[in-house]
Amino acid sequence: MQSHIYDTIVIGAGGMGSATAYHLAKSGADVLVLEQFQRGHTFGSSHGETRIIRFFYDKPFYTELMKTAYAEWRDLEAVSGKRLLFITGSVSLGKSGNQYTTAVRQSLDAAGVASEWWDAKQLTERFSQFRVSNDMDILWQKDTGFLYASECVLTHLQLAEQHGTEIQEKTPVGRIDWQADVPTVYTEDNQFRGKKVVVTAGAWTTSLLKELNLPLTVTKQQVCYYIPTIAAERFLPNQFPVFTEITTDNEFMYGIPFFHKKGVKVARHGMGQTVSPNACNRTPDSDYIERMDTYLSERIPELGNTVHAEVCLYTETPDEDFIIDAHPHCPNIFIAAGFSGHGFKFCSLVGRIMSELALAGETAFDINPFRINR
Ligand SMILES: Cc1cc2nc3c(=O)[nH]c(=O)nc-3n(C[C@H](O)[C@H](O)[C@H](O)COP(=O)(O)OP(=O)(O)OC[C@H]3O[C@@H](n4cnc5c(N)ncnc54)[C@H](O)[C@@H]3O)c2cc1C
Repeated sequence: MQSHIYDTIVIGAGGMGSATAYHLAKSGADVLVLEQFQRGHTFGSSHGETRIIRFFYDKPFYTELMKTAYAEWRDLEAVSGKRLLFITGSVSLGKSGNQYTTAVRQSLDAAGVASEWWDAKQLTERFSQFRVSNDMDILWQKDTGFLYASECVLTHLQLAEQHGTEIQEKTPVGRIDWQADVPTVYTEDNQFRGKKVVVTAGAWTTSLLKELNLPLTVTKQQVCYYIPTIAAERFLPNQFPVFTEITTDNEFMYGIPFFHKKGVKVARHGMGQTVSPNACNRTPDSDYIERMDTYLSERIPELGNTVHAEVCLYTETPDEDFIIDAHPHCPNIFIAAGFSGHGFKFCSLVGRIMSELALAGETAFDINPFRINR
C-alpha cells in the first residue's frame, strides 16, 4: 500500500469524473483519477460528439440548476479557449395539449426562461425542413443547443492535469474498502488511499458499490446519423435547430444538427433493453434503425435513411432523477450516478457539486431530489 494519502480519489473518467477532477484540482486538491479504460473510450455513456443542452424540463428543479450548468460550461470555454457549446435554439413537438410540453412551458416560465408557442406555419417558415400538422404543440426555446461532448471530457481532464491531477488509465478499481480508517481503493496491482473518494463509475456503479444495492438499471441505447444527399448545409447548426418530440406512441425522439462529418444525429430516448455493461452487444439493432427512418420519413423526409448508427449506455433510476449523495455508511465517499440518459448537460455543475461535497462536506445547491433514500 502506498503511504501517500490523496485529498480525493475519483473513480471513473467519463463526463462526471472528468468534471469532478477539474473542479477539485482547480481548488488546489491533490487528486488521483482511476479509469478502467483509456480516456475518450466508447464503452460508457459520454462518448460521441454531441449532447443536447437545454433549459427545458418538465421538472422545475432541473431548469433551475441548468442556469449554473450553462455558466460553468461558458467558464470552461473561457478557461480552455475552446468552443464547446453551440446554441441553435430548439423546437419541442407534441400532440396538442400534451402533458409534457405543457409542464415544460410551466417550468420555463417559473424559472424566468423565455419560450414561445409557435404554430405549424411559423415553424415551417423558419425551418422548412419539418413536416408538421396543425394539431401539434410547438414550443420554441432559443437557448437550447449542443455540447461537443467528447471534447468536453478531454478538456476537463487536460485542465485537471494542468492543475496537478494524476490520471491512471487502464486501471480498473476492483473494490473500495469503505470501512478502513482512510477509504482505500484496490486495483489489480495497487492500493490507494484518499481522504475522500468520489465514485463516478456510470454503468459500473452497482458492481463497485455492491453493499448499497442501488436501484440502477443499465440499458442499451442507440443513435442514428443522417447525411442528406441534397443541400446538407440546411442541417448545419446555424440553419437547423435541436428538436424533440413526444410522439403519439409516447416515444421521446430527439435530433441534433449536422456536426463535423458525422451527420444529423437522431435517436429515441430510453426504452432500451436491459444489459450488463461488460456484455452488451454493441451492434445497433435493425428494427430500431427502421423505426427511426420511418419516423423521419414523416417528420423530416429530406434526411433520408440512416448512414451510420452507434450504441451507448444509460444508467437509469426508477424516477429518472440522478443520484448525488454521500455513501450511506461512509461519510468520506460520495456518489454521482444514475444520470438516466440526460446527465451530460449537467457535468459542469455535477463536477462542481462533487468537489464541494468532497472538500467541504456540503454544497449550496439543492441535491435533495437526488438523495439515495428519496
Ligand atoms: C445515446 C445517448 C445520448 C445521450 N444524450 C444526452 C443528451 O443529449 N444530453 C444530456 O444531457 N445527456 C445525454 N446523455 C446522457 C449522458 O451522456 C450521461 O448521463 C453521462 O454521459 C453520464 O456520465 P458518467 O460520467 O456518469 O458515465 P460514463 O461517461 O460512462 O463514465 C463512467 C466512467 O467510469 C469508468 N469506470 C467504471 N467503473 C470503473 C472502475 N471499477 N474502475 C475504473 N473506472 C471505472 C468507466 O470506464 C467510465 O469511463 C446521453 C447518453 C446516451 C448513452
